[in-house]
Amino acid sequence: MKLNHPTAEIFVPDQSPLDSALARTTHLGIGAHHDDLEFMAAHGILECFAQPSRWFTGVIVSDGAGTARDFKYKSFSDEQMKDVRRGEQKKAAYVGEYAAQFLLGHPSSAVKDAKHAGVLEDLSAILRVTRPEVVYTHNLADKHDTHVAVALRVLAACRELEPGARPKRLIGCEVWRDLDWLCDSDKVQMPVDRRENLQNALMGVFDSQIAGGKRYDLATAGRRKAHATYFESHGTDQHTALIWGMDLTPLMHEGDPSAHVAALMRRFEDEVLARVRRLGG
Ligand SMILES: [Zn+2]
Repeated sequence: MKLNHPTAEIFVPDQSPLDSALARTTHLGIGAHHDDLEFMAAHGILECFAQPSRWFTGVIVSDGAGTARDFKYKSFSDEQMKDVRRGEQKKAAYVGEYAAQFLLGHPSSAVKDAKHAGVLEDLSAILRVTRPEVVYTHNLADKHDTHVAVALRVLAACRELEPGARPKRLIGCEVWRDLDWLCDSDKVQMPVDRRENLQNALMGVFDSQIAGGKRYDLATAGRRKAHATYFESHGTDQHTALIWGMDLTPLMHEGDPSAHVAALMRRFEDEVLARVRRLGG
Protein backbone atom coordinates (compact mmCIF):
# COMPACT_ATOMS: atom_id res chain seq x y z
CA MET A 1 0.00 0.00 0.00
CA LYS A 2 1.18 3.50 -0.77
CA LEU A 3 1.90 5.94 2.04
CA ASN A 4 2.84 9.57 1.48
CA HIS A 5 6.01 10.22 3.45
CA PRO A 6 9.21 8.69 1.99
CA THR A 7 10.23 7.31 5.39
CA ALA A 8 6.85 5.67 6.11
CA GLU A 9 6.93 1.99 6.97
CA ILE A 10 4.69 -0.84 8.12
CA PHE A 11 6.07 -3.33 10.62
CA VAL A 12 4.41 -6.73 10.97
CA PRO A 13 5.72 -8.38 14.15
CA ASP A 14 4.80 -11.97 13.20
CA GLN A 15 5.96 -11.48 9.59
CA SER A 16 2.60 -12.45 8.09
CA PRO A 17 2.07 -11.28 4.50
CA LEU A 18 1.03 -7.61 4.61
CA ASP A 19 -2.45 -7.99 3.10
CA SER A 20 -3.56 -10.68 5.51
CA ALA A 21 -1.79 -8.99 8.42
CA LEU A 22 -3.82 -5.81 7.88
CA ALA A 23 -7.10 -7.53 6.99
CA ARG A 24 -7.25 -9.28 10.38
CA THR A 25 -7.41 -5.92 12.21
CA THR A 26 -10.42 -5.44 14.49
CA HIS A 27 -9.08 -2.67 16.77
CA LEU A 28 -7.08 0.28 15.44
CA GLY A 29 -5.12 2.79 17.53
CA ILE A 30 -4.08 6.09 15.93
CA GLY A 31 -1.67 8.21 17.98
CA ALA A 32 0.45 11.27 17.32
CA HIS A 33 3.69 10.01 18.85
CA HIS A 34 5.60 6.81 19.51
CA ASP A 35 4.33 5.67 22.95
CA ASP A 36 0.90 7.37 22.82
CA LEU A 37 -0.88 4.10 21.98
CA GLU A 38 0.58 2.17 24.89
CA PHE A 39 -0.36 4.97 27.29
CA MET A 40 -3.87 5.70 25.96
CA ALA A 41 -5.14 2.64 24.03
CA ALA A 42 -4.14 -0.17 26.41
CA HIS A 43 -7.77 -1.28 26.40
CA GLY A 44 -7.66 -2.14 22.70
CA ILE A 45 -4.26 -3.81 23.00
CA LEU A 46 -5.49 -6.00 25.88
CA GLU A 47 -8.77 -6.83 24.12
CA CYS A 48 -6.75 -8.32 21.28
CA PHE A 49 -3.72 -9.80 23.04
CA ALA A 50 -3.48 -13.55 22.34
CA GLN A 51 -6.99 -13.60 20.82
CA PRO A 52 -7.10 -15.46 17.50
CA SER A 53 -10.09 -13.48 16.22
CA ARG A 54 -9.16 -10.00 17.46
CA TRP A 55 -6.13 -8.01 16.34
CA PHE A 56 -4.78 -4.59 17.26
CA THR A 57 -3.07 -2.45 14.63
CA GLY A 58 -1.16 0.67 15.64
CA VAL A 59 -0.63 3.89 13.68
CA ILE A 60 1.89 6.58 14.70
CA VAL A 61 1.39 9.69 12.63
CA SER A 62 4.38 11.93 13.47
CA ASP A 63 8.12 11.37 13.05
CA GLY A 64 9.29 11.86 16.66
CA ALA A 65 11.83 14.51 15.65
CA GLY A 66 10.84 17.10 18.24
CA THR A 67 11.25 14.72 21.14
CA ALA A 68 12.64 16.08 24.39
CA ARG A 69 15.85 14.19 25.18
CA ASP A 70 17.97 13.68 28.20
CA PHE A 71 20.25 11.19 29.83
CA LYS A 72 22.15 9.02 27.35
CA TYR A 73 20.03 10.52 24.52
CA LYS A 74 21.12 14.09 25.27
CA SER A 75 23.54 14.41 22.37
CA PHE A 76 21.34 12.63 19.82
CA SER A 77 20.40 14.49 16.65
CA ASP A 78 16.79 14.66 15.43
CA GLU A 79 17.58 11.88 12.93
CA GLN A 80 19.03 9.64 15.63
CA MET A 81 16.01 10.26 17.86
CA LYS A 82 13.65 9.34 15.03
CA ASP A 83 15.46 6.00 14.73
CA VAL A 84 15.37 5.39 18.49
CA ARG A 85 11.66 6.10 18.68
CA ARG A 86 10.82 3.91 15.69
CA GLY A 87 12.79 1.11 17.27
CA GLU A 88 10.96 1.50 20.58
CA GLN A 89 7.57 1.49 18.85
CA LYS A 90 8.46 -1.73 17.03
CA LYS A 91 9.47 -3.32 20.33
CA ALA A 92 6.05 -2.40 21.76
CA ALA A 93 4.29 -3.83 18.70
CA TYR A 94 6.21 -7.07 19.17
CA VAL A 95 5.54 -7.29 22.93
CA GLY A 96 1.85 -6.46 22.43
CA GLU A 97 1.48 -8.91 19.52
CA TYR A 98 0.00 -6.25 17.23
CA ALA A 99 -1.30 -7.25 13.80
CA ALA A 100 0.84 -4.45 12.34
CA GLN A 101 2.41 -1.13 13.23
CA PHE A 102 2.28 1.85 10.83
CA LEU A 103 4.98 4.52 11.23
CA LEU A 104 3.78 7.34 8.97
CA GLY A 105 6.73 9.69 9.58
CA HIS A 106 5.01 13.05 9.08
CA PRO A 107 6.60 16.14 10.66
CA SER A 108 4.45 17.61 13.46
CA SER A 109 3.95 20.79 11.40
CA ALA A 110 2.24 18.72 8.66
CA VAL A 111 0.02 16.95 11.20
CA LYS A 112 -1.12 20.30 12.62
CA ASP A 113 -1.80 21.78 9.16
CA ALA A 114 -5.45 21.06 8.37
CA LYS A 115 -4.75 21.71 4.66
CA HIS A 116 -1.94 19.12 4.43
CA ALA A 117 -3.39 16.35 2.27
CA GLY A 118 -0.81 13.64 3.02
CA VAL A 119 -1.84 12.88 6.59
CA LEU A 120 -5.53 12.66 5.72
CA GLU A 121 -4.83 10.48 2.67
CA ASP A 122 -2.73 8.05 4.72
CA LEU A 123 -5.37 7.76 7.44
CA SER A 124 -8.17 7.23 4.90
CA ALA A 125 -6.15 4.52 3.15
CA ILE A 126 -5.40 2.77 6.46
CA LEU A 127 -9.07 2.83 7.51
CA ARG A 128 -10.08 1.39 4.13
CA VAL A 129 -7.62 -1.49 4.25
CA THR A 130 -7.96 -2.37 7.96
CA ARG A 131 -11.74 -1.80 8.33
CA PRO A 132 -11.59 -1.76 12.15
CA GLU A 133 -14.63 -2.15 14.41
CA VAL A 134 -13.20 0.16 17.08
CA VAL A 135 -10.77 3.06 16.70
CA TYR A 136 -8.85 4.64 19.58
CA THR A 137 -7.35 8.08 19.11
CA HIS A 138 -6.72 11.28 21.11
CA ASN A 139 -9.56 13.19 22.77
CA LEU A 140 -10.58 16.71 21.78
CA ALA A 141 -9.82 18.21 25.20
CA ASP A 142 -6.18 17.08 25.26
CA LYS A 143 -3.73 19.96 25.80
CA HIS A 144 -1.17 18.90 23.17
CA ASP A 145 -1.78 20.49 19.75
CA THR A 146 -0.51 17.51 17.75
CA HIS A 147 -2.80 15.15 19.69
CA VAL A 148 -5.92 17.22 18.97
CA ALA A 149 -4.84 17.64 15.32
CA VAL A 150 -4.58 13.84 14.96
CA ALA A 151 -8.07 13.39 16.43
CA LEU A 152 -9.47 15.91 13.94
CA ARG A 153 -7.71 14.22 10.98
CA VAL A 154 -9.08 10.85 12.09
CA LEU A 155 -12.60 12.31 12.12
CA ALA A 156 -12.09 13.76 8.64
CA ALA A 157 -10.72 10.44 7.37
CA CYS A 158 -13.75 8.55 8.77
CA ARG A 159 -16.08 10.96 7.02
CA GLU A 160 -14.39 10.18 3.70
CA LEU A 161 -15.52 6.55 4.01
CA GLU A 162 -18.95 5.40 2.87
CA PRO A 163 -21.22 5.43 5.95
CA GLY A 164 -21.39 1.62 5.97
CA ALA A 165 -17.59 1.31 5.89
CA ARG A 166 -16.99 3.52 8.95
CA PRO A 167 -15.88 1.97 12.25
CA LYS A 168 -18.62 1.14 14.74
CA ARG A 169 -16.98 3.12 17.49
CA LEU A 170 -14.44 5.95 17.79
CA ILE A 171 -13.03 6.69 21.24
CA GLY A 172 -10.92 9.71 22.22
CA CYS A 173 -8.40 8.63 24.89
CA GLU A 174 -6.33 10.24 27.65
CA VAL A 175 -2.71 11.40 27.46
CA TRP A 176 -2.08 15.08 28.16
CA ARG A 177 -5.09 15.73 30.41
CA ASP A 178 -7.30 13.04 31.79
CA LEU A 179 -11.05 12.79 31.34
CA ASP A 180 -12.14 12.49 34.94
CA TRP A 181 -13.95 15.84 34.48
CA LEU A 182 -16.48 14.32 32.05
CA CYS A 183 -19.88 13.64 33.61
CA ASP A 184 -20.07 9.96 34.48
CA SER A 185 -22.80 9.40 31.87
CA ASP A 186 -20.46 10.82 29.20
CA LYS A 187 -17.46 8.67 30.12
CA VAL A 188 -16.50 5.69 27.98
CA GLN A 189 -15.35 3.20 30.58
CA MET A 190 -12.36 1.07 29.57
CA PRO A 191 -11.36 -1.51 32.21
CA VAL A 192 -7.70 -2.48 32.12
CA ASP A 193 -7.54 -4.75 35.17
CA ARG A 194 -5.92 -7.65 33.39
CA ARG A 195 -2.28 -8.32 32.55
CA GLU A 196 -0.68 -5.51 34.50
CA ASN A 197 2.63 -7.18 33.64
CA LEU A 198 1.98 -6.69 29.92
CA GLN A 199 0.85 -3.08 30.42
CA ASN A 200 4.05 -2.34 32.33
CA ALA A 201 6.18 -3.99 29.66
CA LEU A 202 4.45 -2.01 26.89
CA MET A 203 5.09 1.30 28.64
CA GLY A 204 8.55 0.32 29.79
CA VAL A 205 10.04 -0.12 26.32
CA PHE A 206 9.93 3.66 25.77
CA ASP A 207 13.23 4.20 27.51
CA SER A 208 14.04 7.41 25.62
CA GLN A 209 10.94 9.08 27.04
CA ILE A 210 11.28 7.81 30.58
CA ALA A 211 15.04 7.83 31.15
CA GLY A 212 15.20 11.61 31.57
CA GLY A 213 13.09 11.39 34.71
CA LYS A 214 9.59 11.69 33.25
CA ARG A 215 7.98 8.59 34.74
CA TYR A 216 5.10 8.35 32.29
CA ASP A 217 4.89 4.63 33.05
CA LEU A 218 4.26 5.12 36.78
CA ALA A 219 2.02 8.15 36.21
CA THR A 220 -0.15 6.32 33.71
CA ALA A 221 -0.48 3.19 35.86
CA GLY A 222 -1.36 5.45 38.82
CA ARG A 223 -3.94 7.33 36.78
CA ARG A 224 -5.63 4.05 35.82
CA LYS A 225 -5.81 2.95 39.46
CA ALA A 226 -7.00 6.38 40.61
CA HIS A 227 -9.83 6.37 38.07
CA ALA A 228 -11.03 2.99 39.36
CA THR A 229 -10.90 4.05 43.01
CA TYR A 230 -12.43 7.50 42.62
CA PHE A 231 -15.19 6.54 40.17
CA GLU A 232 -17.82 5.67 42.78
CA SER A 233 -17.80 7.20 46.21
CA HIS A 234 -20.15 4.50 47.51
CA GLY A 235 -19.56 0.77 47.41
CA THR A 236 -16.49 -1.24 46.59
CA ASP A 237 -14.52 -0.93 43.38
CA GLN A 238 -15.77 -2.88 40.36
CA HIS A 239 -12.39 -2.56 38.68
CA THR A 240 -8.83 -2.05 39.82
CA ALA A 241 -7.78 0.02 36.79
CA LEU A 242 -9.78 2.14 34.34
CA ILE A 243 -9.08 4.43 31.39
CA TRP A 244 -11.67 7.07 30.50
CA GLY A 245 -12.63 7.83 26.93
CA MET A 246 -14.57 10.56 25.14
CA ASP A 247 -17.09 9.07 22.73
CA LEU A 248 -16.38 10.57 19.30
CA THR A 249 -18.58 8.09 17.39
CA PRO A 250 -21.32 10.61 16.39
CA LEU A 251 -18.69 12.95 14.93
CA MET A 252 -17.66 10.33 12.35
CA HIS A 253 -21.01 10.99 10.69
CA GLU A 254 -21.97 14.60 11.37
CA GLY A 255 -21.58 17.56 13.68
CA ASP A 256 -18.99 20.13 14.59
CA PRO A 257 -16.11 18.88 16.81
CA SER A 258 -15.94 22.15 18.74
CA ALA A 259 -19.71 22.08 19.41
CA HIS A 260 -19.38 18.46 20.58
CA VAL A 261 -16.69 19.24 23.13
CA ALA A 262 -18.50 22.45 24.17
CA ALA A 263 -21.62 20.41 24.99
CA LEU A 264 -19.55 18.03 27.14
CA MET A 265 -18.00 20.96 29.04
CA ARG A 266 -21.43 22.55 29.52
CA ARG A 267 -22.80 19.35 31.06
CA PHE A 268 -19.81 19.31 33.46
CA GLU A 269 -20.46 22.95 34.37
CA ASP A 270 -24.18 22.26 34.93
CA GLU A 271 -23.42 19.27 37.16
CA VAL A 272 -20.94 21.16 39.35
CA LEU A 273 -23.13 24.24 39.69
CA ALA A 274 -26.27 22.20 40.42
CA ARG A 275 -24.54 20.48 43.33
CA VAL A 276 -23.15 23.69 44.78
CA ARG A 277 -26.58 25.38 44.53
CA ARG A 278 -28.43 22.37 45.94
CA LEU A 279 -26.18 22.45 48.98
CA GLY A 280 -26.75 26.12 49.65
CA GLY A 281 -23.99 27.82 47.64
ZN1 LIG B 1 1.95 12.21 22.24
